[in-house]
Amino acid sequence: MTEITSTPVRQVRPATEGWSQKLDAEGRPLLQFGSPKRGKPPVHLADLTAAERVERIKELGLPGFRAKQLATHYFTHYTSDPADMTDLPAAGREELVAGLLPPLLTEVRRLETDRGDTIKFLWRLHDGALVESVLMRYPGRITLCISSQAGCGMNCPFCATGQAGLTRNMSTAEIVDQIVRANRALAAGELGGKKRGETTPERVSNIVFMGMGEPLANYARVVQAVRTMIAPQPEGLGMSARGITVSTVGLVPAIKKLAAEDIPVTFALSLHAPDDQLRDELIPVNSRWKVDEALDAARAYFDATGRRVSIEYALIKDMNDHGWRAELLAEKLNARGRGWVHVNPIPLNPTPGSIWTASEPAAQAEFVRRLVDAGVPTTIRDTRGKEIDGACGQLAAAD
Ligand code: SAH
Repeated sequence: MTEITSTPVRQVRPATEGWSQKLDAEGRPLLQFGSPKRGKPPVHLADLTAAERVERIKELGLPGFRAKQLATHYFTHYTSDPADMTDLPAAGREELVAGLLPPLLTEVRRLETDRGDTIKFLWRLHDGALVESVLMRYPGRITLCISSQAGCGMNCPFCATGQAGLTRNMSTAEIVDQIVRANRALAAGELGGKKRGETTPERVSNIVFMGMGEPLANYARVVQAVRTMIAPQPEGLGMSARGITVSTVGLVPAIKKLAAEDIPVTFALSLHAPDDQLRDELIPVNSRWKVDEALDAARAYFDATGRRVSIEYALIKDMNDHGWRAELLAEKLNARGRGWVHVNPIPLNPTPGSIWTASEPAAQAEFVRRLVDAGVPTTIRDTRGKEIDGACGQLAAAD
């Protein structure tokens, strides 16, 4: 074991930086696992299984085969506009669409980076709650960072969303509709950075649940949304599970449940510290499930799915970027085997008013070097969208 006290480097802690942890009635760090009760969003095609869709259409007094036609419009052509649906009889078309494809996300604002290859969408939900998604073009793939909750109950001090508290869980269809809306924008040529002469139709290829919210705290809806993403068109979006990343602060029982779902999504654990002493402060949920339990669950996820897991690590200057922490992290990962994990450090994106800053480039390089020297594959994650407050941890949906 590495000695914390023998390290002659500065150790900044959340508490010494003026952060104070809110506590619950039992004196434990305040966490909101349950969603506050609010009016439910309207039921939408994307909330329903194929059988339920047919059922619902029949309830509206229409033949069941209309379900597939509607699903094709929504999941293949990304439209909810009755005017586009000329294969449906004009009589009753509006009612059918109103009944199964009610509007869920109203675009409030859109921010783009200079070259236009990143767009941040701010959406208003039916009850006024605000959420964001970020669309990014990379060579060979288009990634959408989506939200799973309005706000977040996990209270991580360095994350803008975490500081705002939880407004409510998003419904399955609200989660899925972010992708449909992004695909609609892509089809309309609204994302810049496309190679000249490129004419193939574009759609989102990769999803990261790294927008607002803790996906595993909204477990049932998130898992159903994933199932809809990977169901073949027109039943769903026809995406590859491998291109979908579910990122969590480490809700251990939910990680175990996810591993048993038999959907090979990529799993990411937001670790940010290899020692409980610091992680207790940095990730309040560590008061429930410790570093070793979270790592054991991550390893078990690999065992169950064969999918290499990611460890996320936001490098915060003098807080968690010490060389000994890189070594301790490598030791803990290697103790659980080789080839099952890689580490994704990311320089902290300071949130507005944040007291912490990103690690110095030299500290970051040294952190990576120690992991790599210990045989742990490590790649720095990019901080796309920083200048539009669209980077990780900056999604606060301030309107
Ligand atoms: N609740 C989930 C997913 C949302 S956050 C989770 O915690 O994993 C997605 C990632 O962004 C997480 O790894 C989170 O720790 C990280 N993050 C949050 N705030 C950040 C910030 N200010 N700078 C860099 N990464 C941040």
